[in-house]
Amino acid sequence: MELVGFIGLGRMGRPMASNLVRKGFRLVVNDVNPDAVRDFDSASLTDLAKKADIIITMLPNSQVVEDVVLGILPDLRAGSLIMDMSTVSPTTTDRLATMAARREIGFVDAPVGRLASHADRGESLFMVGATAENFQRVKPLLEAMGNTIHHCGDVGAGTRTKLVNNYLAIVSCQTNAEALALAQRFGLSLEKTLEVLYGTTAINGQLKIAWPTKVLANDVTPGFTVDLAHKDLTLILESANAAHVPMTVGAAAREAFNLARTRGYGLNDFSVMVDVLCELSGIQKPRLKD
Ligand code: NAD
Repeated sequence: MELVGFIGLGRMGRPMASNLVRKGFRLVVNDVNPDAVRDFDSASLTDLAKKADIIITMLPNSQVVEDVVLGILPDLRAGSLIMDMSTVSPTTTDRLATMAARREIGFVDAPVGRLASHADRGESLFMVGATAENFQRVKPLLEAMGNTIHHCGDVGAGTRTKLVNNYLAIVSCQTNAEALALAQRFGLSLEKTLEVLYGTTAINGQLKIAWPTKVLANDVTPGFTVDLAHKDLTLILESANAAHVPMTVGAAAREAFNLARTRGYGLNDFSVMVDVLCELSGIQKPRLKD
């Protein structure tokens, strides 16, 4: 069996790695935070790179992924494979894939959809960019970490699909915040308003699936943080600008998340956007009755 090196055991990486171990995969892990690697067989980046056949990265952003992958590239064997599952810029994916190919190392981008709670249960969705051969090689690993796998195309297609997906998920968070703040100001019943919205085309996954167990249940622990949402909208706007696609609503939403960060909400779950807006407008925060 191939040895998997897993780098980045944060809110997402830790349950993903745990699910791999539970399904019988051999793992060696690395994280800059010593607490994150407890209960796992850990190694330095150099040792991990020398030993592992497949390296998975689940890191915060493009810069960290580039630093880590370029740092370990000289220690990887020809024939090994890197699967980056972080949300990064398409230019990062393309650059790293090219650098890996020069050393005969495979590269797969497989960013993750759905919530952190899905990752806990092994119910994530993956958007994969890979050659047909590399896709078959990583498929058993993906099946151990999630239950929905989409092969979106060649390398880079996973990352690009992820940005399209996150555009809608994150922007809908801001529009939900505005809609519910207005409903609160109008003095409407939150329960009845949601019942109406769930029965019309206004429905969206954040409002229906995520929010009732997060901000509306008074839980703003992350989840997916405001900082990560701001990072993703920045990636999306940069990519869209480079491709000459105007994203006017996305630009406004990005600045709303930026405002939330400046007010100290960066590490909260991104559903907290409705609380930020209510706080700024002097409106009572919406909470479901027990
Ligand atoms: P996180 O901040 O909880 O975890 C990142 C981990 O990487 C941390 O444990 C950190 O210590 C580690 N790390 C940072 N720099 C490192 C380095 N140089 N070497 C080794 N380890 C390092 O973030 P997360 O929520 O787990 O998200 C990880 C990625 O997944 C991000 O790109 C995010 O956009 C994406 N994502 C997150 C969610 C979510 O709901 N949280 C969902 C889908 C995708």
